[in-house]
Amino acid sequence: MSMDFLPFTRPSIDEATIASVAEVLRSGWITSGPKVQAFEAALSDHCVGRPVRAFNSGTATLEVALRLAGVGAGDTVITTPLTWVATANVILEVGAMPILVDVDPLTRNIDLDRLEAAIAPTTKAIIPVDLAGLPVDRDRLYEIADRRNLRVIEDAAQALGASWKGQAIGSAFGAGRGFVSFSFHANKNLTTSEGGALVLPADIDVPLCERLRLQGVKRFPDGGMDVDVLGGKFNLTDIAAAIGLGQLPHLDAFTRRRRELARAYFAAIDSRLGLQLPPADFSNCNWHMFQPLLPRGTDRGRFIAAMKERGIGVGVHYPALHLFSLYHSLGFRDGDFPNAEDIGRRTVTLPLFPAMQDSDVERVCAALDEALQTSLRCPP
Ligand SMILES: *Cc1c(COP(=O)(O)O)cnc(C)c1O
Repeated sequence: MSMDFLPFTRPSIDEATIASVAEVLRSGWITSGPKVQAFEAALSDHCVGRPVRAFNSGTATLEVALRLAGVGAGDTVITTPLTWVATANVILEVGAMPILVDVDPLTRNIDLDRLEAAIAPTTKAIIPVDLAGLPVDRDRLYEIADRRNLRVIEDAAQALGASWKGQAIGSAFGAGRGFVSFSFHANKNLTTSEGGALVLPADIDVPLCERLRLQGVKRFPDGGMDVDVLGGKFNLTDIAAAIGLGQLPHLDAFTRRRRELARAYFAAIDSRLGLQLPPADFSNCNWHMFQPLLPRGTDRGRFIAAMKERGIGVGVHYPALHLFSLYHSLGFRDGDFPNAEDIGRRTVTLPLFPAMQDSDVERVCAALDEALQTSLRCPP
């Protein structure tokens, strides 16, 4: 077949954005400058006026948020085992230890009932993750955090454009007390190629946030400077910010199109195939990814290869992170979080991105049928 390969995701970058990047390159100022400030202001508008600072990755925003929340050696932070490993790595990076809590098998997000039981005297913060852009229940989350006096750092890397009860993720929830982290990695719903943004609880957090972002440097009007805290090197470039500024006006249309495509998948996937579909949420979820679970007894490697032979890219997001060697060496074991392990072994990410055509959904579904047939393991 001579059909083009359909990747599981692809960014939509228009010609005006490409022109604005060229303009930055010609301007003589290519690192952090006016485009970053304009991007931060535009993001702050999206977050109904909350303070926002741009970073060179989502990972950096999480690390800085932990430092701003005062998390360090001897502390524990509760999070989910079913996420991109960055979520847990940053906890180790600041010298703290992750406490993992298994996921709800339906939403695939951290199980808030189990979360409450896992809180220890050392627990300082919670990092909930909105996997695939399906938001964790913000009402219950903040109710628990407030009652138990814990800081919240929302890992909303995948949730820009998603909402909870009609309010955008990054806006109302946690104002005054929570942090919200976004990633603009190439695969996310809005990209700067690489980048991230941190929504802060309040204006008072801005100066330290800026110092932690760039070497701890505090500048004085007379040209002098001081360094009073150990900061990193996490600033975004104007080149990247120009991409983000070009993307942001399309965010609502991107989210609408993603929801349409997700609906088309629900309509087209034959229930007889035995795939377990995600919750059919078309109001909160931004459909960052469309992830069925393969029937038990399917060889995922063979399934992915069979889809590839048919010109279709399939991703895996993610194996449960406590199974990685680093986390094993910290004492986590196979069997600790059965729901996350089961989902992590069976999940596949099908193509879904704003520029996809309706006919692409049909193509994926036709291939699904054949690929599942060829990847069933022989019965023992
Ligand atoms: C992408 C992602 C991150 C990290 O973002 P980067 O910009 O790649 O550093 C963290 N958490 C989750 C859930 C992600 O999807």
